[in-house]
Amino acid sequence: MINAPDRDVPFTRTIEHKFFAPWELEAHDKTVVYREYSRACGEGDIPYYPVRLVAAQALLEHYEARARAEPRVTFVGRLGTYQYLDMDRAIAQALEVTKTWFLAEYR
Ligand SMILES: Cc1cc2nc3c(=O)[nH]c(=O)nc-3n(C[C@H](O)[C@H](O)[C@H](O)COP(=O)(O)OP(=O)(O)OC[C@H]3O[C@@H](n4cnc5c(N)ncnc54)[C@H](O)[C@@H]3O)c2cc1C
Repeated sequence: MINAPDRDVPFTRTIEHKFFAPWELEAHDKTVVYREYSRACGEGDIPYYPVRLVAAQALLEHYEARARAEPRVTFVGRLGTYQYLDMDRAIAQALEVTKTWFLAEYR
């Protein structure tokens, strides 16, 4: 993956998927390279990226208060915490919650 953060480059990154599994490189005689272009989420799109707007912040606080009041329930991940998380952080958060909160609650 090569990021393209410059303003004058219209795409955000280039990805060549075969390098995700370098041990399979020899098995492929062709490859696919694609470019990602970012745009605002429209109606009918899946809203992948949480965007913390002022109105959404109030709604989040409302949900957080309700979540805290639920016994033996917790929330993790992008969807559950309404945060932008890369994969490594999402996985680390899940492992941490399993080690601490989950084992304490469900011992
Ligand atoms: C286009 C794109 C590119 C990305 N590129 C990278 C990258 O290069 N590197 C990187 O580290 N991260 C990348 N990410 C981020 C990575 O995908 C996320 O960090 C990770 O998937 C978050 O994991 P999660 O478990 O929090 O959420 P998710 O993987 O989104 O899991 C949430 C799950 O909840 C389910 N769900 C939703 N609503 C409900 C409901 N009402 N009831 C039950 N289930 C429900 C969904 O179907 C989904 O399976 C990218 C994300 C996107 C969208």
